[in-house]
Amino acid sequence: MPGSIFNQQGVFMKVAICGGTHGNELTGIHLVRRWQKTPSEIQRNGLELSTLIANPAAYQQNRRYVDNDLNRRFSLKDLNDPSLQSVEELRAKEINQILGTKESPKVDFIFDLHTTTANMGLSVIINSLDPLVKKAAFYIAQKLPDVTLFYQDSDRNSDNFLMSLAGKGGLLIEVGPIAQGLLRAEVFEQTRLAVMAGLDYLEMHLANEAPEVPEQLPGFQFVEKIKFPEDENGQLIGMIHPELQDKDYQPLNPGDPMYLLETGETVYYQGEPGLVPSFINEAAYYDQHHSMSLMKPITIKL
Ligand SMILES: [Zn+2]
Repeated sequence: MPGSIFNQQGVFMKVAICGGTHGNELTGIHLVRRWQKTPSEIQRNGLELSTLIANPAAYQQNRRYVDNDLNRRFSLKDLNDPSLQSVEELRAKEINQILGTKESPKVDFIFDLHTTTANMGLSVIINSLDPLVKKAAFYIAQKLPDVTLFYQDSDRNSDNFLMSLAGKGGLLIEVGPIAQGLLRAEVFEQTRLAVMAGLDYLEMHLANEAPEVPEQLPGFQFVEKIKFPEDENGQLIGMIHPELQDKDYQPLNPGDPMYLLETGETVYYQGEPGLVPSFINEAAYYDQHHSMSLMKPITIKL
């Protein structure tokens, strides 16, 4: 683990970078390994860095998870529930001892690195009310092209994401499209640059040299996951319509083609207007037959 580096004022912040929270999202795992070999790349004045491969058991099996999704196991209630004993429930409790505990965190800020099979580019997901977390996300959005911001305000204790273990919360970096179990150089590099920009911002903030970021930026808020068409036995009977495939973040209007059934029939969107799809045809959603998430455009304020 890298040692502490204090800036001139002696102010410091503890930051953890986590990869492999989903075991078949290799980008974060390989970035964490890179930084374990060359920690100088992530060292910043005033920051104490640590790195973690979050779900090594799932990674060994090249699976998203062994028993259940690790990134839904971090609510205070679940961490303190001794009856929860799945591979991921136990791993969440271990990570709670390493980075948390949730009630008394050892780290201030977590970057959690993910990938998606959907054509979403670089998305930065903010779950925290803390202005510093939002500012770091806004800075990443300013520095890198085509960043999409997701914002979900959440109560830290009930939040079940890994990054909610940190005192301030953190940022989930989600890059795609990339298949599960794969590395792609441009996805690796986009993810790396997002973390670099985030660390740069934290360093400048601690040195009281942070550049101005906008007071507000456009983004999206999660509304709901929607399901593929199913038959009466609950079997999946359709796929994403070719006109919708890869159209993440583009408005979905009533009457737009949504699914192509196995029969060749088209199913049209009939929900409310003004929403945009994300995670279209996300492979990790197939276990629940979810086809995409619908998001609402919002303004994110500091
Ligand atoms: Zn993931």
